[in-house]
Amino acid sequence: MSQSFKKVHAITGMKDILPDTSHEWLALESLMQQWLAAYGYRNIRTPVLEHTRLFARGIGEVTDIVEKEMYSFTDVLNNDRLTMRPEFTAGIVRAAIEHNMLYDRPHRLYTQGPVFRHERPQRGRYRQFHQISVEALGMPGPDIDAEHILMLARLWKMLGLDDIRLELNCLGQSAERAAHRQALIAYLEKHVDILDEDARRRMYTNPLRVLDTKNPALQTMANEAPALEQFLGDESRAHFQGVRDRLDEAGIAYKLNPRLVRGLDYYNLTVFEWITDRLGAQGTVCGGGRYDDLFALLGGKPAPATGFAIGLERLLDLWAQARPIAHPAECQVYLIHQGDAAQRVAMQVAEQLRDNDLRVIVHAGSTGFKSQFRRADASGAKAAVIIGPDELTAGTASVKWLRADAASAQQQQAIELADLATYLKTKV
Ligand code: ATP
Ligand code: MG
Repeated sequence: MSQSFKKVHAITGMKDILPDTSHEWLALESLMQQWLAAYGYRNIRTPVLEHTRLFARGIGEVTDIVEKEMYSFTDVLNNDRLTMRPEFTAGIVRAAIEHNMLYDRPHRLYTQGPVFRHERPQRGRYRQFHQISVEALGMPGPDIDAEHILMLARLWKMLGLDDIRLELNCLGQSAERAAHRQALIAYLEKHVDILDEDARRRMYTNPLRVLDTKNPALQTMANEAPALEQFLGDESRAHFQGVRDRLDEAGIAYKLNPRLVRGLDYYNLTVFEWITDRLGAQGTVCGGGRYDDLFALLGGKPAPATGFAIGLERLLDLWAQARPIAHPAECQVYLIHQGDAAQRVAMQVAEQLRDNDLRVIVHAGSTGFKSQFRRADASGAKAAVIIGPDELTAGTASVKWLRADAASAQQQQAIELADLATYLKTKV
């Protein structure tokens, strides 16, 4: 007896990618493979689940992500506190430490997949979304920060996107930020009466983030706050200058944004974001920067590192706006048949065609010729190959070209089964 079952829907903010749009993902992913290969980046894959304390420590206790966006739960089998990764960097650094990956060489790495953040869903903001994360581990110089930015400029060019702008900042080193922080707290204390609740809550825990406020009433206060730039030492300045020089040499334009702090605590020196006006409120396509302190923070031997993450939903939205992404044909050859015996022959013929690198669909089931032709046409196949009772007796197949001009499309040509693959291969 069947019991009634309440229909299940996908979880809010977590989207199905259906076959009518998955081709866009595949096209983007294959282009990105070429792009990453052009710079010699190798793939790494880490688990979706990590211990919660990895992110709490790595991303920072007082960040938006850790405070309110993580999918965390207790594993009922052993009471472990686990979290579904909200980003990739902490997991990759964990893996690099765990496997002692930097003992004899630096690494250029990338990974891609779903990440999870409990946010309010809207265009460009989901609870499961996809990132491609690129990390250079064990490389201290400004050359590699610049390489990442050059790389991204190339990606936008490959995608035909010309309206993503770059914002850049230098966060200095932790001692420099600490000195700035003291000055900032003193400044915020002077203005405490105009601060909103959010700003007051954060002024001692994360005063830098207070300057990132969207509250219009606080903009003047934020603009006039002591700037980190004044607290940077010679080495930090030289590093930043090294990045800027290389961007200038590559002809890459950028805007310096002293307020750019990024939502994760682990950054130092260079940070950057790529932003567009074409995506409404969710305009940041990519964010990244240097995180030289993260290895030590996670218990590893100190090692320099820098990286970035691209939000793929946002990038795809932008790409699809720039040009339609054609739906590829489902196959080259669509096999039509009539009757049980013909179906069996069609199956064998299809295998032979596949042996010859043709992409083939055999019509499933035994519907009428007319509906089979309709499916053949809709599949985008170049040719329909028909095996009916007559062909069966003659040991042939009839080929009908589906994309040819009207005159030649009328013609159906009988081909010996033995010659079929060769005949089709020269024409599809
Ligand atoms: P935002 O300010 O938009 O929340 P973020 O600073 O939290 O972004 P990062 O942690 O830097 O984002 O993640 C890198 C990229 O991932 C972002 O630039 C954006 O393109 C994308 N991204 C971040 N959060 C989401 C989300 N909830 N849904 C879809 N894409 C996202
Ligand atoms: Mg965010």
